[in-house]
Amino acid sequence: MAASALLAVEDLTAGYGGLPALRGLSLEVRAGEIVALVGANGAGKSTLLKTIAGLLAPESGRITFEGRRLDGRPAHAVVREGVALVPEGRRLFAKLTVRENLLLGAYVQSDERTRRQALDEVLALFPILAERAMQTAGTMSGGEQQMLAIARGLMSRPRLLLLDEPSLGIMPRLVSRIYETLAAVNRQGLTVLLVEQNVHAALALAARAYVIQTGRIVLDGPAQELLGTEVVRRAFLGL
Ligand code: ATP
Repeated sequence: MAASALLAVEDLTAGYGGLPALRGLSLEVRAGEIVALVGANGAGKSTLLKTIAGLLAPESGRITFEGRRLDGRPAHAVVREGVALVPEGRRLFAKLTVRENLLLGAYVQSDERTRRQALDEVLALFPILAERAMQTAGTMSGGEQQMLAIARGLMSRPRLLLLDEPSLGIMPRLVSRIYETLAAVNRQGLTVLLVEQNVHAALALAARAYVIQTGRIVLDGPAQELLGTEVVRRAFLGL
């Protein structure tokens, strides 16, 4: 494993009630990168993100972030270490306002000034959320809710953002806007691990990518190179 890895996942095994979903999976994300993880339905993408985020305990293997072990730590401890998950399906509090949802994302920041600063930053990044600050989250469009979910993730000021299918069910124009914002926060120094079924979009944004099949990495490399490989073209792009 390269010394420069911000996140290192080594030989990770995890599953549900004895059924393995990850079978000795290894990958790494270096500081400043956007890395995509692509794979078919049920390949184990969400399971990997949930395990890194501390929502699912691994059976074996290691997860190291900035040199410290994360595996087996609870979710709130992982957030404190600087890793935030934007879960599939967004999981917002539908009855709370945009602003309230955002402030909940900053619960690890005990200092009021830091919370306000984080709020100002994410509202500058997503101006639509500033306009809708007092609207209840459940009445926002799917794309707006996805922006809110990402913004909430950023409120904890992570150094690594784990994103689970941000383009799912969202119209292409908003997908582009969300991806442009991700590129912008990455330029500001945020490292991103992106899970997607929208392989074209993910491989256009990411510098490197991994392909997962039934809980194992079967291919990895520069995103542009993977776009040209048989397995990606046939399995994901329908070519
Ligand atoms: P998708 O893109 O469809 O979300 P995925 O690659 O994220 O797929 P996972 O959700 O990680 O896949 O699922 C991996 C495997 O684990 C699948 O076989 C799935 O059925 C199983 N699985 C996922 N969540 C659970 C759960 N809560 N209980 C039992 N099995 C689960």
